[in-house]
Amino acid sequence: MESFLVVVFLIISCASLAFSAGPCKVGATRKLPINQTFLSSFSLLAWSYEGDTGPNHWKGVCETGKRQSPIDIKSSDAVYNALGKFDLKNYDKKLDLNFTVANNGHGMVVSLAGGNYTVSGGGLVGSYKTVQFHLHWGPNNDEGSEHVVNGTAYPAEMHFVSCNTNYPNVTEALKYPDGLAVLGVFIKVEGDDNDAWSFLDFAANVTKYKSSVVVPASDFAVFNKMLPASKSDYYRYNGSLTTPTCNEVVTWTVFKDAVNISKRQIGLLRKLEKQDGKPLKENYRPPMPLNDRTVKASFNATSVATNPPPAAGSTTMPTGGASVSRMTAGLFLSMLLILFTLQ
Ligand SMILES: [Zn+2]
Repeated sequence: MESFLVVVFLIISCASLAFSAGPCKVGATRKLPINQTFLSSFSLLAWSYEGDTGPNHWKGVCETGKRQSPIDIKSSDAVYNALGKFDLKNYDKKLDLNFTVANNGHGMVVSLAGGNYTVSGGGLVGSYKTVQFHLHWGPNNDEGSEHVVNGTAYPAEMHFVSCNTNYPNVTEALKYPDGLAVLGVFIKVEGDDNDAWSFLDFAANVTKYKSSVVVPASDFAVFNKMLPASKSDYYRYNGSLTTPTCNEVVTWTVFKDAVNISKRQIGLLRKLEKQDGKPLKENYRPPMPLNDRTVKASFNATSVATNPPPAAGSTTMPTGGASVSRMTAGLFLSMLLILFTLQ
């Protein structure tokens, strides 16, 4: 009888642990972020940011890989490395060409044909052509970024995706560990509209699933203005696409400083619709294990706050302290019950 009760209590305690972790990991949970249009053709199976097709159920390398993205960046563990400045060709120019803005059901993607923008320097080997940029966001300002820093998430994150010029196209680049370089920009919700991000107004043109619009590049601010003012402070690590098929081919750059957009501007993203016609309220993948990888920092990362004050309108961790506390309390209660039963 005693051992039966122990088993019962263990089962109850496990169930309560799963439940207590739920609101952080499940409800707001598991999302992913990358919305490359080109990715959809690589995904043989339907995937999403929720339910049975959400991040917990992604297969293949997404499930088995040891160098997955995003990650929780622990600033105190980042190793200083003078990676150098980026050379961002044409990021300061408005070129006479068109961009395509699209809703691919996983997010908003801006595709850049022609390979006119390139990224090199910054510790990267070789040169990378920027092929598109896209955004990840959450249903509220406490979540939405894919990367988190010291457990703290931002309301959104933008990814500039560039393809190694050693390879003829993205399909080929996806086969090599140095195939892609992605620049990640954290986004905070603060203040008035950010004019450099006025392209977000195009989200209203692509609310419906699979809708797209061709827009003159001159309607966008130069890319340099979308990036943080300080482009020399960033984290660097080797990782993966954050959407299926999760290829481990990405040299990641995550800028230390965030950019600001307004509440109205992030609201435009949250109105995009998924394939089922419902709002795509979140499209981020939660952090994956670092395993044996090292994160480098181009700056003295020990100055980054490990416990940032909860600022209104920004941050907080999706997998944070509250759930840990609940789990600890659950374990403690279970132990007490078991001890009581055994007596
Ligand atoms: Zn992304």
